[in-house]
Amino acid sequence: MVPRCPNPDCSSPQPRRHGTFYRASDAKVIQRWVCLGCKRHFSAATFQAAYLQNKRRTNSEVAKLLSSGVSQRRIALLLGIHRITVARKLAYLAQAAEQRHDEWLETLPKVTEVQFDDLITLEHTKCKPLAVSLAVEAGTRRILGFEVSSIPASGLLAEFSRQKYGVRANHRPQALQSLFDKIRKSLDTKVTFRSDEDPLYPMIVRRNFPRATHHRSPGGRGCVTGQGELKKLRFDPLFSLNHTCAMLRANINRLFRRTWCTTKKVACLKQHLAVYVEFHNTVLLNP
Ligand SMILES: [Zn+2]
Repeated sequence: MVPRCPNPDCSSPQPRRHGTFYRASDAKVIQRWVCLGCKRHFSAATFQAAYLQNKRRTNSEVAKLLSSGVSQRRIALLLGIHRITVARKLAYLAQAAEQRHDEWLETLPKVTEVQFDDLITLEHTKCKPLAVSLAVEAGTRRILGFEVSSIPASGLLAEFSRQKYGVRANHRPQALQSLFDKIRKSLDTKVTFRSDEDPLYPMIVRRNFPRATHHRSPGGRGCVTGQGELKKLRFDPLFSLNHTCAMLRANINRLFRRTWCTTKKVACLKQHLAVYVEFHNTVLLNP
């Protein structure tokens, strides 16, 4: 296939072949091209998402390991690449995964029952908690979307947190709104929502889906110490969501309980979640 010139200001119709080069990072011979209009040189690799990467062979391995509870430093050790390369790959893989997820939402048959809740984690210290708002399709347990927001510390740490870090903003209402905005296109207009009794939820649901049904049920206690999400209830009406939260906790190392891998930057938590969501929906749910 003859590619178009990548120069946006150039309208020259057809470039000419201009030799090849050997790409050592994956042992492939790549076709070079030259544009007859603007004389720009480019190659078949110019148009690829992994353009200019030197460790492109490890991309899929990194995605699998990031979704399997392995830390970034351990991935670097196992694959023989630098830890900074792993961090860069996280950003690259997340962007691609997010785009595919967005396209996938369009093709999904309209969802009729959604369970949603917030999973609590932290950035750097327990004094700076974060909420991961998560929406899951009931039954199939497919993750439809997530959003991360800062919330103030609660309980015993609240006072200490305010003294040390000042008043922490509560961005959870905006995050829930933007989560609903993202998943709206894949939901049926008469969708049923299930959540716990958080006082914020009814308002958000009513504002976005006036025709939807919203069932609320009490949270319940965790079944094992430290397993906040898997409930001790005999029948858990929020099972799809709680099971998914437990899977996030088991497979994303920074969400483990009692981990020493903590989130340092909110943006990186978002990227990690995006990579995991794709792995969860495409691999873990379709063995
Ligand atoms: Zn050109």
